[in-house]
Amino acid sequence: MEVEQVLHMNGGVGQTSYANNSSLQKVVISTARRTLEESITDQVYCNKVVFPECLKIADLGCSSGPNTLTAVSYILDIIEATCQSLNMNKSPAFQVFLNDLPGNDFNAIFRSFSSFYERLKKEKGDKFGPCFITAMPGSFYGRLFPDNSMHIVHSSYSLHWLSQVPKELVNNITGEAHNKGNIYISETSPPVVFKAYLNQFQKDFINFIRYRSEEIVPGGIIVLTIIGSTKSDSPKSIWEILGRTLNDMVKENIIEAESLDNFNMPLYFPNAEEVKRVVQEEGSFSVQKLNAFEMAWDAGFPTAQEDDNTNNEKHKRGKYVSDYMRAVAEPILVKQFGETIMDELFSRFAEKIIESMAQEKWQYVNLVISLTKN
Ligand code: SAH
Repeated sequence: MEVEQVLHMNGGVGQTSYANNSSLQKVVISTARRTLEESITDQVYCNKVVFPECLKIADLGCSSGPNTLTAVSYILDIIEATCQSLNMNKSPAFQVFLNDLPGNDFNAIFRSFSSFYERLKKEKGDKFGPCFITAMPGSFYGRLFPDNSMHIVHSSYSLHWLSQVPKELVNNITGEAHNKGNIYISETSPPVVFKAYLNQFQKDFINFIRYRSEEIVPGGIIVLTIIGSTKSDSPKSIWEILGRTLNDMVKENIIEAESLDNFNMPLYFPNAEEVKRVVQEEGSFSVQKLNAFEMAWDAGFPTAQEDDNTNNEKHKRGKYVSDYMRAVAEPILVKQFGETIMDELFSRFAEKIIESMAQEKWQYVNLVISLTKN
């Protein structure tokens, strides 16, 4: 399966769209804001980096929805505040590149530009900008920008997606699947599965860093937030629960065993050490910060008027988690298992999530990494 061709979040603005089910990711971006701010201001104040005439900013894996311009708007706020504290009478101009894979709903993004520009003008006045936003479709595992041209590159919740499902998940002589009945590293996965995933992450992440090193100016910044793990071979992930749900449906003959055996998610949740090692091995960037923060699966759930702990509330929270997972995973699952089972799959998945959340406090481990180009 060519990940670049099939991967995108649910488009549009309907009930199951990413646009309507990405509050968790919004909380992630706002929690990582401080690191973003410190990375930019450290670079400007401590290292006396001067703003260019036009500051080039990219958000990689921007998706489509209310989060698409959130990080960009934070970066513009941070630069505005920095210019004010330096008593500059005018900010640089900005060119902003929004990147995602070609299947992303870029049309919806384009429609949001005019209101974004209006807001900027109203909030920041004439001494700010101008700001020109454009799209750059393509994979961030390839080149996206000209040599030595970018100043600030940001990406949130995108780099845990791999460029492909690791090929070593299948025995290359017998063709037998190694990760039968699972869709990610799981309790019953043999060690070869973990190794295959780690190898693919290392290959992809080093490519990512290498290409950005060609594109980013010396002193330029990358700030990345990804889902990570404390122990990367640990099966404790939400994807294991989705795998178990699919497995139940195999047992009930709703899904063919073979189609589950041959399916794995192109994702990897590295630990901090694995991330650091790749950056150091590539050598073009220095790690400025590497922070981890945990976040409950149901972070971003709209707080109820009365914070009740009733079954109804628990049910709604489980459904909330299942809904954002559907917005993320549905396009890729449909390719393998077909559209018709999706409602059934996600209603069963929601039940399992509710059960799991009742038993323990499940959390994502998020890693925020800030790098500067040497
Ligand atoms: N940054 C947004 C979206 C996160 S969803 C937010 O925080 O809400 C992850 C996004 O990464 C998806 O839109 C997916 O299409 C994109 N993505 C995954 N792999 C990619 C790649 N190789 N190149 C570009 N975008 C990619």
